[in-house]
Amino acid sequence: MSELLTTSEYRDIAGSLNFPTQAFINGQYVDALSGDTLPTLNPATGETIAQIAACNDDDVNIAVANGKAVFESGAWASLHPAERKKVMLRFADLIRKNSRELAVMESLESGKPIRECELTDLPETIQCIEWHAEATDKLYDQLSPSGNDAVGLIVREPLGVVACVLPWNFPLMMVAWKLGPALASGNSVVVKPAEQTSMTTLWLAALAIEAGIPAGVINVLTGYGHEAGKALGLHEDVQVVSFTGSTEIGRKFLEYSAKSNLKRIVLECGGKNPSVVLADADNLDKVAEQIVYAALWNMGQNCTANSRIIIHKDIKAELTEKIIKAMDQWTTGDPLDPANMLGAIVSQEQYDKVCHYLAKGKEEGATVLAGGDPIVAGKGLFIAPTLFDRVTPDMTIANEEIFGPVFAIMTAESDEHALEIANDTCYGLQASLYTSNVVKAQRYARKLQAGTVSVNCYAEGDITTPFGGYKLSGFGGRDNSLLAHDQYTETKTIWLDLSE
Ligand code: NAD
Repeated sequence: MSELLTTSEYRDIAGSLNFPTQAFINGQYVDALSGDTLPTLNPATGETIAQIAACNDDDVNIAVANGKAVFESGAWASLHPAERKKVMLRFADLIRKNSRELAVMESLESGKPIRECELTDLPETIQCIEWHAEATDKLYDQLSPSGNDAVGLIVREPLGVVACVLPWNFPLMMVAWKLGPALASGNSVVVKPAEQTSMTTLWLAALAIEAGIPAGVINVLTGYGHEAGKALGLHEDVQVVSFTGSTEIGRKFLEYSAKSNLKRIVLECGGKNPSVVLADADNLDKVAEQIVYAALWNMGQNCTANSRIIIHKDIKAELTEKIIKAMDQWTTGDPLDPANMLGAIVSQEQYDKVCHYLAKGKEEGATVLAGGDPIVAGKGLFIAPTLFDRVTPDMTIANEEIFGPVFAIMTAESDEHALEIANDTCYGLQASLYTSNVVKAQRYARKLQAGTVSVNCYAEGDITTPFGGYKLSGFGGRDNSLLAHDQYTETKTIWLDLSE
């Protein structure tokens, strides 16, 4: 675990950073061909940090052509898997060497608390690249059970140019989730980071070159979604888009695919995840801590944020009190102060959206038990952690993804009723279940409609377990674990006749 510094030491690092602002194509930082830029802001202060290249379809064409050329050259795709592994491990090492500066940069552009960047985002980013690197020379192809007169080989091949279109909430972790398996299988990658958070991804691309990943294998196209993102979705030479973001934009990628080359589309989308507390849950202090962590981590800007807290009526009063108490330690403020658990909301647009839901909750009759308002701090975008009670399934805040530090208690008449409320959503990404009965836990976990169910804790699993959603939360594949490699590879059958 990295030891945290003081706020003034983090400020010094912030002052010494070189911010990458150009796109990264074929191993070089370059301006967008149009010369257009977009501002990237520090949401904790409102200051403009830098102007970033705003790429469009002309830049996309160049990046994809370079990615395709290097793929066809075999410089990466045909490298011996053991060699690819070594280079990827060097890449992970370079991220580790620069992790403190990367953590500060990530905090500045996203508003995330530095303690999270240091203790979670950077370590998990490094671990993810290392894990997939290690898999590179340990994955075997298959032989079919086709008798003595034939050999059926089932081989996995990289796809070519892969596009990764990313959200702003975990910039480094999300790029690592995609880059790890895509690179391990030998693909070329074009990354489109979210417009709010491009800089750490741009830096990573330069570290990849330093590690020995050939130029053109990793390209980063910064810019707007409706320009650079759309052009990638429609490009005839992009073989797969691995997308993480909202369900609304995810749907667009399915349209882009249908209108172009039927490229594979993998979507990791939104969620409206429940914490379900059954009547026999024990250790309610721990349950309360986990519920608050699940709701507030990353200011609730998390696809697995547990924003619906469904509690059996028999324990509701006691648990509610403990939840309110557990919220005390979630201090909000300057993201570079390592004492703060919560930082700024990423952008004005997101801040306005969360404020809209605060108003909706009050308007529709929910009761505010904690928070309920923005925190006024200069031009910073801070919102007080907010807990609503007396929320009913028909209310807007019980149905729509808020993506802010706002969560809602709903009362269940029975354990079955709790399950019914939990599944009453168009999403199905994650659910947390609390019960002291392990048999019941197994039974309920199977009935919950979610890609991940954590029992007696809030968790998404780890790098070894697949991550993705049911219903509108996902489509077409999984991130993490070896299943992630399926996103970036194609299956080929090679049939050899042995008959005499
Ligand atoms: P978003 O959908 O607005 O944007 C995601 C990406 O798509 C960005 O890079 C954006 O530039 C691009 N984009 C936007 N419009 C586009 C268009 N018309 N064509 C092509 N690309 C376009 O999402 P966001 O606001 O950045 O992130 C928040 C969302 O991401 C939430 O819904 C959250 O639940 C989801 N998310 C899901 C996961 C998961 O693994 N399931 C993880 C993190 C975030």
